[in-house]
Amino acid sequence: MRLHELNCGTLRPPGGRLVCRVLLLEVGARLVLVDAGFGRADVTDPRRLGPMRWLLGAALDPAETAHAQITERGLDPSAVSDVVLTHGDLDHAGGIADFPQARVHLLAAEHAAITGPRGHRERLRYRSEHWAHDPRLVLHRPGRGTLLGLPGAVDLSDVAPGMHLVPLPGHTAGHAGVALPDPTGGWLLHAGDAAHSARTLSPTTVRSDSTGESHGRAAGPFASVAGLLRDAGIAARQAVLAQDVPLLRSTQRRLLALRSREPSVRLTTSHDAAAERPVDPALGTVHAPPRRLML
Ligand SMILES: [Zn+2]
Repeated sequence: MRLHELNCGTLRPPGGRLVCRVLLLEVGARLVLVDAGFGRADVTDPRRLGPMRWLLGAALDPAETAHAQITERGLDPSAVSDVVLTHGDLDHAGGIADFPQARVHLLAAEHAAITGPRGHRERLRYRSEHWAHDPRLVLHRPGRGTLLGLPGAVDLSDVAPGMHLVPLPGHTAGHAGVALPDPTGGWLLHAGDAAHSARTLSPTTVRSDSTGESHGRAAGPFASVAGLLRDAGIAARQAVLAQDVPLLRSTQRRLLALRSREPSVRLTTSHDAAAERPVDPALGTVHAPPRRLML
């Protein structure tokens, strides 16, 4: 199994530059996507995205679509057998229309919200255009298993060796993370929009990211104030977009606990431009899932 990390949609909301992180897995002759970013039709006809496009500041570059990046790597888009969605938001599901042959996996609760949106927020975030091609849906209910201390894990080993869908609700009704063996060792957990910044889950970590923002220990009192303001902005954005804020906070506390309990787990999110320990594709071969962390 070989792992590529893609940005399938640059976003420029007020105060920041975000990415739409998509995982591309080579599983034998098949390809598997975790999330799909914006699709080709979204780029050519942005009206498909509705008014949320403006709130997100979607840049919509055709070269950033998953379809284009798969082709650019010399791979065949028709080999995409499965797309596993963290949730159905427009910036995550737009690309599924570019892979009509693929099975599309998501939690049943998320699909229920997509097909029966309640309230203004759900009507804005989900776009019926993205589902109009009648995708081959595979709806999952939370399982009985626990993975990495997170309950409700669904085994998707038939999609990719060791892959699990893990409910992480709050951002949307049926939001989930996707865990898989990390080519660099341990586990990789793509936590989707459970946190809009790794900083949310690691307030004391020192790092800098590709946006040029300096994360972590302040260089002085003014830098400290700037950091607090940035954190407040991230928290506000998370709250505005969350379907259930207390549930999101509960999910984030679980992820914080996981991070301190299992530092070998690489936790990544959809929109943080700072990729922790980014994977070199040349390293991306996994022979067996790391069972050590199966709890
Ligand atoms: Zn998102």
